[in-house]
This record gives sequence, C-alpha cells and structure tokens, in this order.
Amino acid sequence: MAAELPFLPFALPDIGDEDIAEVVDTLKSGWVTTGPKTRRFEADFTAFLGDPSLQSMAVNSATAGLHLALEALGVGPGDEVITTTHTFTATAEVVRYLGADVVLVDVDPATLCIDVAAVEAAITPRTKAVIPVHYAGLAADMPALLALARRHGLKVVEDAAHALPTTSGGRLVGTLDSDITVFSFYANKTITTGEGGMVVTRDPAIAKRIQVMRLHGISRDAFDRFQSKTPSWYYEVIAPGFKYNLTDIASALGIHQLRKARRFQERRAELAALYDAALADLPLVLPPKAPEGETHSWHLYVLRLADGVAVPRDTVIERLFAAGIGCSVHYIPLHLQPYWRDRGNLKPEQFPQSQHVYERSFSLPLYTRMTDADVARVATALRAALA
Ligand SMILES: *Cc1c(COP(=O)(O)O)cnc(C)c1O
Repeated sequence: MAAELPFLPFALPDIGDEDIAEVVDTLKSGWVTTGPKTRRFEADFTAFLGDPSLQSMAVNSATAGLHLALEALGVGPGDEVITTTHTFTATAEVVRYLGADVVLVDVDPATLCIDVAAVEAAITPRTKAVIPVHYAGLAADMPALLALARRHGLKVVEDAAHALPTTSGGRLVGTLDSDITVFSFYANKTITTGEGGMVVTRDPAIAKRIQVMRLHGISRDAFDRFQSKTPSWYYEVIAPGFKYNLTDIASALGIHQLRKARRFQERRAELAALYDAALADLPLVLPPKAPEGETHSWHLYVLRLADGVAVPRDTVIERLFAAGIGCSVHYIPLHLQPYWRDRGNLKPEQFPQSQHVYERSFSLPLYTRMTDADVARVATALRAALA
C-alpha cells in the first residue's frame, strides 16, 4: 500500500518570519493594544489602495466594520437593507444589530454575486442601503449597482471580505464610488491578522463617526490620550460606542501580510489556473473568470457539478475527505438558515439561482502554501470522486 499523504486542509494562513518578527517587536515594545503599528497598518492600507482621499480604519473584524458602517450611515429601525442570500451570515446580521430589516435577494448565476435586477425589484420606500458581496473575490456588477443606488438615493456598503485585491473597471475594490468598503483579515482570508478588518471611506463625517464608535463612543482614542506630547487625560463620551479596535499585535501581522498581498494574489491566480486546466474535461462548472484586465482575488475556488451529474455533492465532499482533502461549501444560503428563513418566511423557490448553486457547489482548497503537486492531487481525487 502506498504511504498515505498527509491531510490537505481546506485553508491555511501564510505567516512568514517577518510577520512573526514584527509581532515579537510589538510584544517587546510595551504597546500591545491600538497604537503606532495600527496607525502604520492603516496608512499602508490607504497607500496600497492608492487613493490618498481614502481613510482606512482598522477594526477587530469585518463584522464589526460592517456594523460600524451601517451605524455611521444612520441605518435603524424601520429601514430595510438589501443583500445577497448567498453569503455568510455576518453580512446580514449587522443589519439586525441596528434593528433594521434584511431583504435577501438572489444571485446572478454567472458570477454568484448579487443580482442587480433583483435588487431593483426589492426596493421599497423603506430601503436605506444595499450590501453587495464580491463573492469568492470576483467583483459584483458595481457600475450597475452604483447607478441603481444613485437613482434611488440608496447607500452602498461593500462587503469586501473576499476582495483584496480585486478590481472593478480597473479600480481596486475600496476605491470605487460606494459609501463604505469593509475588508476582512480573518484566518482564511487573502491576508490575515488572525481576526481583523479594515473599513474604508472617503467621507470625513462617516470616518469621524466610525472612529468614535469603534472605541466606546469616545471622541479621542487611546493613542492620542497616552502618546501625545502634552499629557492629556481628558476625553468625552458622546455615544454608547463599541469595543471594535484592532490591537497592535494584530496590526503587526497586517503590515507584513499587506506587503505580500499582490504576491499572494498572483499565486492564488496561478493555482486557480492549474485547477482550471486539470478539471477542464470533467462535468463541472468551473468558477467564473474576471473580465479581461480585471483582478480576481481568488479567495475561493468554487465548483458546481454540471446538471446531470448523478453523484450527489455531499458524496463528492465525503470522497475527497476520505482521500485526505478538506473541502467546504460557500455558502449554505441565508434563506435556508433557521433564523433568516423563519424571520422572513423565506422559501427556496424565491432564490432559485442560489438554491441551485448551493445544492451542487463545493469549494476546493486554495491558498498560497499549496504546491502545484497539491493541486494535481486534489484534481486526481476529484476525478475519482466523480467516476
Ligand atoms: C469572512 C466574512 C465576513 C466576516 O469577516 P470577519 O472578519 O470574520 O468578521 C463577512 N462577510 C463575508 C462574505 C465573509 O466571507
């Protein structure tokens, strides 16, 4: 019997010696919470996006960032916020934190991003905002969505948890004409700080509100209070804010992860292309490509079983697991989750595209620490699993 290969996890972070050294430096510096490293990470993030008119604000998760974004836009009871059913619950739960109502819509089957026509059909006099998700790292149809939002006076908050770096119309997500964009640095995202996120906006009033609300509603933050030249113990609480600041320990990781973001994207794109080539003759719908000249961050590699494939999706995942390969499903649509289903009295028939994708899709491992041989191994196992 051939020696068994080690289990290939679904996702792994790519932490280098320089990332670790920066964390150690932070630990030895005496400043472990939000401070100079976080300032640097924020400045570097704005520089990465390449638009100095942007304000980047580090937070301890994208979920926190989405919450702060909607709060800053004044979303509250009586408002409706439209988003895609084909996402993680974090995208929608933040709307409920604020007492507003979530309106879920179906996806465009070509991209698995929010269907802009479905958004238009869901608009009511109560609609306040739309949250598109750049699913798997491919940009949603932002030109159409932003035009629709402008026509109806709606706010747009981009859930860019998958989208670093992703482009739309040749511009990086984060620099588009939405109100606020939120990135995630969760462990399995394209860059990681363990837990963390970044909120980006061009609007100074929104930025001010988010800065205050991310730290207890205090009008100055810890760095200013304890590090300024003139001793200043005075601060004012102007709202019941949150505890959403990012630590310098996490930002130390972020500084170095961000420097590698382009290289990471290139490697992910390379691995995705290897998968495409190795799987081209199988009865699968391969992931959609970015249009010519655009960047796909390749956070996820999501396959769909072609119509007519007899092997159930769950069996494929079980067979891959038995072959030592971790897989996942992105996502169990929100309309099937008990809370969202029961609250909205939602039926799968209302979301035919998402439902169909859910029943036939699975995500393969895709991360920078994978080798070309890992891709070949997954492809061989998948070929066998479909036989
Ligand atoms: C990961 C993720 C989030 C939440 O990010 P956290 O940083 O873990 O809070 C939100 N939306 C989508 C689409 C995600 O994949």
